[in-house]
Amino acid sequence: MNETRKDQQSDTAMPKRRAVVLLVDDQAMVAEGIRRMLVDETDIDFHYCADPREAIQTAITIKATTILQDLVMPEVDGMMLVRFYRTNPATRDVPIIVLSTKDDPAIKSEAFHNGANDYLVKLPDKVELVARIRAHSRSYLAQLERDAAYQALRDLQNQLETSNAQLEESNRELQRLSSLDGLTGISNRRQFDKTLEQEWQRALRNCAELSLIMIDIDYFKLFNDTYGHQAGDDCLKSVALALARIVHRPSDLVARYGGEEFAVILPETDTEGTLRVAEKMREAVSRLNVRHDASKVSDKITLSIGIANMNPRGSDNPDTLLAAADDALYRAKHAGRNRVEVASDEATAPPAVNQSRA
Ligand code: GH3
Ligand code: MG
Ligand code: MG
Repeated sequence: MNETRKDQQSDTAMPKRRAVVLLVDDQAMVAEGIRRMLVDETDIDFHYCADPREAIQTAITIKATTILQDLVMPEVDGMMLVRFYRTNPATRDVPIIVLSTKDDPAIKSEAFHNGANDYLVKLPDKVELVARIRAHSRSYLAQLERDAAYQALRDLQNQLETSNAQLEESNRELQRLSSLDGLTGISNRRQFDKTLEQEWQRALRNCAELSLIMIDIDYFKLFNDTYGHQAGDDCLKSVALALARIVHRPSDLVARYGGEEFAVILPETDTEGTLRVAEKMREAVSRLNVRHDASKVSDKITLSIGIANMNPRGSDNPDTLLAAADDALYRAKHAGRNRVEVASDEATAPPAVNQSRA
């Protein structure tokens, strides 16, 4: 037998949510007594369960905020039921007021030990019963609200962590993409400038040498004019790939410097080593055998290359190295193209003022 009142909510007590009381007792007389005590309390919903086997399910269904539990019932022991409430996650924290016929310290102690929150002797005083139901229900409801708030906070935190991780991933991807050349897929000018500055500083700290290779495709305008811009783009991709395959050290960098020009940074590499890499690059592109009938130096695509090597000085900057390699490239062009030229010592030497002081 279940009995529920849905009166108007009291203005004074429990302003937010009503107390929902479940009495579990096999005696209908006791139920009637309790029901009468609560009948005027508009903030308390009263439910009654005569069958202890249905007690837990009923408590869950009605969302009980306090359970009034009889101890002596046929078939099911009240103490055991108290333990069951405590082991079920849905009723684990619902306050339990044990209703006993005896004011016996030993029974009281056992009831609390099993998980009861309160103990009243039947039939309790109305005022005391109502006050205790309100107090227990209120603290239980407050606990539910706290748990819900914590859960909401945890959910929010998880969401934040997820979106932060996604943001970091997109940033990394963006970073990667913004360092690559759109056409050839090798490093772009931005990445080249950044790396050259970093490697310059590193070489400065370690008193190490730093080499630069500047590469320019010969008569590429004529190639475009002859075979079209799309063929030109395809050629740039093949050349970029061939150049990138030559270098192996993690700190080496092959970049598209602009147009049909490429630049290579080789940290801790001397002139002899740099010259070898440059020659390999020139040969690799020659081996691509990209036909170029309009070229004035060959019948296929060729490279002119300038290299420079320096021990960076604090008084200087990477532009010196760049200018020296560029100057060597210029000389390669004028010496007939399809060749490698090394920067002159003067191009990488300290400025004249410093020299005269040294
Ligand atoms: P040189 O041997 O003196 O280097 O002659 P060049 O024709 O290679 O040099 P120039 O600087 O006169 O022309 C470079 C040409 O490279 C101009 C343009 O047609 C071509 N070029 C630059 N960027 C691209 C590109 O992204 N795609 C294509 N298809 N062609 C490009
Ligand atoms: Mg050029
Ligand atoms: Mg060119």
